[in-house]
Amino acid sequence: MKQWIKRVFLVVISSILFLMVYLFYEMNRGESSEDKQQVVNVFTARHYQIDNEIFREFTKQTGIQVNEVKGTAEELVERMKREGKGSSADLFIAVDGGALNFAKQSGVLQPITSEIFLRNVPEEWRDPDNYWAGIATRSRVIVYAKDRVNPDQLSTYEDLTSELWKGKVLVRSASSLYNQSLLASFIELYGESEAEKWAEGIARNLSRDPEGGDRAQAKAIAAKVGDVAIMNTYYIGQMSASPDPEEREIVENLGVLFPNQQTTGAHMNISGIGLAKHTPNKDNALKLAEFLTSSEGQTMLTQGSYEFPVNGEANMPEMLKNWKNFKQQPVDIASLGRFHKQTKEIFERVGWK
Ligand code: FE
Repeated sequence: MKQWIKRVFLVVISSILFLMVYLFYEMNRGESSEDKQQVVNVFTARHYQIDNEIFREFTKQTGIQVNEVKGTAEELVERMKREGKGSSADLFIAVDGGALNFAKQSGVLQPITSEIFLRNVPEEWRDPDNYWAGIATRSRVIVYAKDRVNPDQLSTYEDLTSELWKGKVLVRSASSLYNQSLLASFIELYGESEAEKWAEGIARNLSRDPEGGDRAQAKAIAAKVGDVAIMNTYYIGQMSASPDPEEREIVENLGVLFPNQQTTGAHMNISGIGLAKHTPNKDNALKLAEFLTSSEGQTMLTQGSYEFPVNGEANMPEMLKNWKNFKQQPVDIASLGRFHKQTKEIFERVGWK
């Protein structure tokens, strides 16, 4: 009898010991694998395919997983504000200097101090306090039907408002940040009443009510809905490299004109990045910011999106190399956001939908 109890006792004790060792091992394994999985959470308002490829390359090189949270710049900033110290956001990425400045003003960013990053991005494309910096630039230019337009008759944004182009101008809607910033640049350069005159002239000359994005305007030129359009440079580049032969053909028949080369220069805007105020993974966030602006990251970006790189070491597509030396508006991009309310009112007054 005693032998029997002893045996049961031994089996129970060894089972408990085994279980304890097993549990201890499992718990530690869980903890250490969590420690090893490094992440960076990117709140991004950009919608370009190349960003995902760059993030994948970054993960390949560093082992840091990139989690994307998408939304409009306004939505993302609101969320970061609402979540406060508990926010998971590490990096904020947006298009438009006004949107980036809105994030700064909303108090959801902090200055970026990485020396590598600041070396990668020239001062002209940075917030004066380094709360955000550009990762790419683009110009808003005029394109025209090569077979129907004599480019000698067209050299400025203002020309598009003349009688000559009545019923021939194509541009997307007034709700586009691209148009708001363009008009804001005219307010800054010439004052509100001149800017309004310009918007009025464009609205008067439109060949149809605004519809679709920038690509749709190029397509409308091909379909002879209009002869001239306002669009961002990178859409021309992306269409020229499109897998769709129709898009490539459309671009072949388009002339590209950098406006106001004898006067105030072509309008510029940026895509940019900011460090979240309460970033939980600051080191990883800075590493990604450094990679995005490195010559490798910038080459990937410009080759994929056809935006202009901010880092001069990047290797641009041929098309961009040919465009590179054009006169740019001497406008402080950060400041354009403060005119957006005014621009919306102007668009409404002049009937630019
Ligand atoms: Fe775009």
